[in-house]
Amino acid sequence: MTPPAEATDSRVAIVTGASRGIGRSIATRLASDGHHVVLVARSAGPLEELAAEIKAAGGAACAVPCDLSDGDAVTAMVEGVASDHGRLDVLVNNAGITRDGLMLRMSDEDFDEVLNVNLRSIFIACRAAARPMMRGRFGRMINISSVTGLIGNPGQANYAAAKAGIIGMTKTIAKEFASKGVTANVVAPGFIETEMTEALGSAVLEEAAKRIPLKRLGQGDDIAHAVSYLASEGAGYVTGQVLTVDGGMVC
Ligand code: NAP
Repeated sequence: MTPPAEATDSRVAIVTGASRGIGRSIATRLASDGHHVVLVARSAGPLEELAAEIKAAGGAACAVPCDLSDGDAVTAMVEGVASDHGRLDVLVNNAGITRDGLMLRMSDEDFDEVLNVNLRSIFIACRAAARPMMRGRFGRMINISSVTGLIGNPGQANYAAAKAGIIGMTKTIAKEFASKGVTANVVAPGFIETEMTEALGSAVLEEAAKRIPLKRLGQGDDIAHAVSYLASEGAGYVTGQVLTVDGGMVC
């Protein structure tokens, strides 16, 4: 059960992986754009803290803990939000994990887990979101992929498969729901400074920054700006697109 709605006149936006990193930046940005933001991740504490921060800044948000590796829980979460708020306008599928390893040593479990959290959960969330969005004749599905899904990366066969899968699936969703006022787009980040990339170590990140044409790593806000645009009224004629936000790495 999600908490009772607080701002049903506002557009309602679900952001997964909102407890930290890129998702936190996206949620903060969508709240300042005027959305009631539903914050989703497994850890309740950071979600509650972010909801309090957004409310203190005059925005509207609530925390809805959910483990996206559980498909039934994903469906229940999305349907619960739509029913509690009487609407669902924006779905940002941002949560993701890595289980890196060179292919010859990658276990079936590590492949399946990454596909389950990074791709299957997005299919389930988009499927559940489609009906309430069609009812409202407005919808913005925004799925966070990666440049790895476009160009591959050694040690990330599982992650690259999921991130490339997001692109094909989103283009299909775009075609299936375009006539209903529902758009679906992908944002593909490059190297963004978060806990996920921190694990690579500072030497790797410094090297990466040198190879990026804009000569810096990205920040969560760089991705949040792109999502904010795709979620906006003004992006209504943009669907099935991949917006790469990577400082020029893939161009
Ligand atoms: P992060 O700092 O590791 O954050 C991941 C988020 O996903 C957390 O909020 C985490 O919260 C949530 N999450 C993980 N597993 C979950 C599950 N089973 N159920 C619900 N929530 C779950 O990652 P990030 O760097 O911000 O990345 C965000 C997205 O951008 C990911 O899809 C990632 O693949 C993509 N991306 C990142 C980069 C980059 O350079 N950072 C580049 C390209 C693409 P809990 O742990 O509390 O569940």
